[in-house]
Amino acid sequence: MQPVKNQEYDVEISGYNSDGAGVARINGQVVFVPGVIRGEICKIKILKVNKNIAYGKLVSVEKASPFRIESACEVFPKCGGCDFWHMAYEEELRFKEEQVQNVITRIGGLDLKVETVVGAKNTFHYRNKAQFPVGKSGGCVCGFYRTHSHDIVPCDDCKIQSHFANAVAQTVLSWMSDYGIEPYEEKTGKGVVRHIYVRNTMLCLIVTKKPAMCDELIARVKEKHPETSGILLNYNKENTNVILGKTLETLYGETDVIDTLCGNVFAIAPHAFYQVNHDQAETLYGIAIEKAKLTGDETVLDLYCGAGTITLALARHAKKVIGVEIIPQAVENARENAKLNGIENAEFICGDATKAAETLKERNVRADVVVVDPPRKGLTPDLIKTIGEIAPKRVVYVSCDPATLARDLKLFEEIGYETKTVTPVDMFPRTRHCECVALLSK
Ligand code: SAH
Repeated sequence: MQPVKNQEYDVEISGYNSDGAGVARINGQVVFVPGVIRGEICKIKILKVNKNIAYGKLVSVEKASPFRIESACEVFPKCGGCDFWHMAYEEELRFKEEQVQNVITRIGGLDLKVETVVGAKNTFHYRNKAQFPVGKSGGCVCGFYRTHSHDIVPCDDCKIQSHFANAVAQTVLSWMSDYGIEPYEEKTGKGVVRHIYVRNTMLCLIVTKKPAMCDELIARVKEKHPETSGILLNYNKENTNVILGKTLETLYGETDVIDTLCGNVFAIAPHAFYQVNHDQAETLYGIAIEKAKLTGDETVLDLYCGAGTITLALARHAKKVIGVEIIPQAVENARENAKLNGIENAEFICGDATKAAETLKERNVRADVVVVDPPRKGLTPDLIKTIGEIAPKRVVYVSCDPATLARDLKLFEEIGYETKTVTPVDMFPRTRHCECVALLSK
């Protein structure tokens, strides 16, 4: 018999699904329950019953796991940003490694044991990028959208955002309240401030039009947060979920963020991608470079290169590197960044990775090693085919979605590339997301 909606059941949690929710069974039917830990006995309430899967919520923990911890975050799990404040980091890492192993076996069809997950030293306040939506709830608030909604859960002390981001956002809110500057309202399209975007020590307000009292904003932010490197406006009038609009105005200081990664200095434009976890990005790049096994004689192709962060780290170990990236501001950054670091053996192409690889192949550019770091949707089958034709000795695949990685490894296998290692790297502690580096060899 199927579990019944609104009814309570005592269940044992046997493991996790790919979202990090606990898995239990009621009369053989699978139930997903967030906020629980493997081995726990819990009282749950059924919220929804589909044909094959039911969804429940935790009512009480009857027998707690030794890995259960008290949440350090006041808005967990309401805010929907994090998944794991209820469990010891150790158990979270085990979940991530298992999850990667599962997809490598099931989706990738590979007979390969994944490496031990590389955990983060620091699981608090590790993010260098925040994009808080702004809204009204009494006064002005900012925080995160509740899961599956655009209701804002206010959050003034996010445990994974930087202290600077948390604090400067509060300064913006009090400036808005004091001067009657209205948050943008999605339903009506009225209002001014849509998001507060913070990266390192840059503050950028996403606005529909220039707010009044900008001078006062600058004065307050500079006074309260003297470390601020830049204050920007970004204009976005569209009725869209895309956060950043095209046009930027720098009100104060630097437009780009300046940061050091793996010994290189980088300027990063607000529109360019930048890894959100600085320390783990260095770890990740270190693994990618080690896997590439460069001797100094190689030509390396770095597809999806962003502002050139991996590319320039690779350049120091290779004869030549070619980076490909679709966002023009990021490519501009990448070229500047090469100069900034005195790197002369790096070249950058602005364009779609699949098309650029095809063009490079037609020009008979050979590459000994190809590095790819695509967005979550992974590589196109055409790009995998073209890489096969370019025929590098090794491919290093950096991935932020293990499922699409596994799918692509299978396609590489079919064209003669064997997956040697898959290393999960935890770039996003307390969330379900896990990064991986895979090494493939011809
Ligand atoms: N390797 C970089 C960036 C990785 S994120 C780093 O570690 O910082 C993925 C990058 O791929 C982003 O910069 C994104 O703008 C870019 N991108 C997305 N689609 C692309 C496409 N079709 N062709 C080339 N680059 C693309």
